[in-house]
Amino acid sequence: MIDTCSHESRPLLSIEDALDRIKVAVNTVVGTEKLSLNNALGRVLAESVYSPINIPYDRNAAMDGYAFASCDRVDGQVFTLGLAGTSWAGRPFEGALQPGQCVRIFTGAVVPKEADSVIMQEQVQVRQQTIHFPIDTRALQNIREIGEDVKQGACLIAQPKKLTAVDLGLLASPGIDRVTVKRQLKIAYFSTGDELTALGQPLEPGKIYDSNRMMLGGLLADPCYSVVDLGVIPDNKQLLEDSFIKASKNVDVIITTGGASVGEADYVKEILQSCGEVNFWKIAIKPGKPLAFGKIGMCYFFGLPGNPVAVVVTFQQIVAPALRQLSGAPPSKPLRFTATCTTALKKAPGRQEYQRGILSQNDCGEFIVVSAGRQGSNILSSMSQSGCYIVLPKECNGVQAGDRVIVEPFSLLI
Ligand code: AMP
Ligand code: MG
Repeated sequence: MIDTCSHESRPLLSIEDALDRIKVAVNTVVGTEKLSLNNALGRVLAESVYSPINIPYDRNAAMDGYAFASCDRVDGQVFTLGLAGTSWAGRPFEGALQPGQCVRIFTGAVVPKEADSVIMQEQVQVRQQTIHFPIDTRALQNIREIGEDVKQGACLIAQPKKLTAVDLGLLASPGIDRVTVKRQLKIAYFSTGDELTALGQPLEPGKIYDSNRMMLGGLLADPCYSVVDLGVIPDNKQLLEDSFIKASKNVDVIITTGGASVGEADYVKEILQSCGEVNFWKIAIKPGKPLAFGKIGMCYFFGLPGNPVAVVVTFQQIVAPALRQLSGAPPSKPLRFTATCTTALKKAPGRQEYQRGILSQNDCGEFIVVSAGRQGSNILSSMSQSGCYIVLPKECNGVQAGDRVIVEPFSLLI
């Protein structure tokens, strides 16, 4: 990897180019493990799963009612059939249905093989053991056919897929209880900065509490990741370098916050350059311009900015897609759509901005968005009150109240 944007004179890398570079540089982890289904939520399926049986396995009723053979139906007339017994869900009717007979049946119960139709219980009249069918009784209704959901041998879920709750249900329906998934991605993260104070400690003059590490822990809460919190490292070159090198031997990815800029105490990019490779370290986005991406040995490295809002934006826009690719999950683009912005927004051309907004729908169902308030990259309170990014393209020169803007609702973790 070459450092192509270390000089201020070069144009900043666009976010699209940064994402393309990551896509090329990143390789999915090798290795799988077998898990029982109840531990597989959120993991990436590594082997496609085929159904060992038909689903449904038996022909069964889609309604509570009466099962009958359509040849016993009298077209255009009311007719009656004798009640031969009951088919319960889990307890099928055991006899054979004779001509002129029907059975009481409940949703999910096996339909006797002589029957091909089920009528809803509300449509018949029951007089002791005789069932009166109405004139408009329809044949071949309300039966779930064998294999109508999934045929035996068909692909239930193709790899790769991040397994959802619905997927677990789908896998369980033909009785699958183990799946092969990609191994977890090992991620270490830490904060850098002399000013950082651990929670629970008194705050000395000039110090601040470490909010980034709390957020990163939350943003990394994903079953595909096995995360290690390596705490705070002061702005000391040797300590930082030793920590980077040590962590790089044990994990697939290192994520740091702070020290990524060009201040006197911002060593991250310099150290990455000396003990590894820098792919890029500045992107044309706001917030989040200083972001170092590279590698130390086999370990990928993301040096995020220090300001908390910039941490979230760069994590979500840049690190998260990279982690997905590394963990083998298929790419997923965030949902974006347009909304009318009812407040004016300040913006200078040059960088793509991710302003924080509050999204709602008016009485006509149209999407409207307002600024969430102060937009500084240290203003976490307005981000906490917001629900979406207002994505303003690089060349945008501000927004007037009433303009249409692109919005991107936050993921659930934000
Ligand atoms: P830096 O990139 O180290 O120059 O940091 C930029 C700003 O982010 C400074 O105001 C830092 O104090 C702040 N900052 C850095 N790390 C953290 C952290 N872990 N939690 C909260 N704020 C931080
Ligand atoms: Mg710092």
